[in-house]
Amino acid sequence: MAIKGFQGTSLLDYPGRIASLVFFAGCNLRCPYCHNPGLVETPEQYPDIALDEVVALVAQRRGFIDGVVISGGEPTLDPLLVELATELKGLGLQVKLDTNGLAPAVLERLLDQGLLDAVAVDLKTAPERYPELGAGPTAALALKQTLALLQQAPVALEYRTTCMPALVGAADIAALGPLVQGCPLWVLQQFVAEHALSPAARSSVPYLPEQMQELAVQAAAYACQVQVRGL
Ligand code: SF4
Repeated sequence: MAIKGFQGTSLLDYPGRIASLVFFAGCNLRCPYCHNPGLVETPEQYPDIALDEVVALVAQRRGFIDGVVISGGEPTLDPLLVELATELKGLGLQVKLDTNGLAPAVLERLLDQGLLDAVAVDLKTAPERYPELGAGPTAALALKQTLALLQQAPVALEYRTTCMPALVGAADIAALGPLVQGCPLWVLQQFVAEHALSPAARSSVPYLPEQMQELAVQAAAYACQVQVRGL
């Protein structure tokens, strides 16, 4: 595990905010649609970037960024994450974490220390189906613990689901919905076959726009706002 990437600037998902992006390598899942397969399967192809170098790069940009998005891969697997978030908060920046939600203890530590301003959690499929993504048998419990933690957390919160037909259907939305009841935002993303991690995914057919909208109507029973992206 290591920090592998740093990008100059990019838009945060929150209007009007500019952020830098930091990528961690490695992941405990193998989502067939993953669009960062290099970071997940062959992270050694990217050079490691030392923590103090990342902090220095961010510090140089402090005058025109609002925050930093920490993404991956899965950042919660790396012991450097807490230290990085601490350093970034020390620079007076906002910190957003992108995570698959399978490390509730790490998330709790970050929240307890006030190191996060925003969290985006990927909801992959019904919790009991996570072993289909390579997760261990405790993944469903871990995800539920994360979602319970975030119910009361003082952070901007976004749930995201990539709607690959083999993984996400009406039954999966119905299984996830009660776990995120009342959340501010649930984003349903169109599945994109091109460049997907698994060969099977690369040849699978996405939902039609009207099928995505049907899932969105279903999800709207649970979330305050539902957005469909990528159509
Ligand atoms: S989509 Fe995210 S959680 Fe899934 S394999 Fe890729 S980096 Fe890991």
